[in-house]
Amino acid sequence: MSTSSDARVDAEFPPIKPQHTGLVGKCPRCGRGRLFSGFLSLAEHCEICGLDFDFADPADGPAFFVITFACIPVVAFAVWMEVSVGAPYWVNALLTLPLLLVFCVLPLRPLKGLMVATQYYHSAREGALDPANHVGTGPGR
Ligand SMILES: [Zn+2]
Repeated sequence: MSTSSDARVDAEFPPIKPQHTGLVGKCPRCGRGRLFSGFLSLAEHCEICGLDFDFADPADGPAFFVITFACIPVVAFAVWMEVSVGAPYWVNALLTLPLLLVFCVLPLRPLKGLMVATQYYHSAREGALDPANHVGTGPGR
């Protein structure tokens, strides 16, 4: 159910696709304010439109995607270097550590921004039971 306040906000800030705001760390509502106050720390609110970022909870989502799509291939590369090529440890470390830093640390921020912007775009909220409609098997049944 939308309220008149929601309608006013919708008119003032038309929806912006999450990939246009989140990937570049911009506010999901206005697309101009900064989403982050540090490398991975979210700001408390947007300095342009005042949107409170308390709703944002990407949890371990960015880390999951980085581990799945970046860390595992890089570690597989390191194992392949060790087993097939037989490279010395220092060569393996010299190649693998920069790959881990580039492919695992750098994508965290855009992924976190994308997840927060997607949460806002789809109005995703934490699930909760509605006590009026809750069908349970407790003592009242
Ligand atoms: Zn904003």
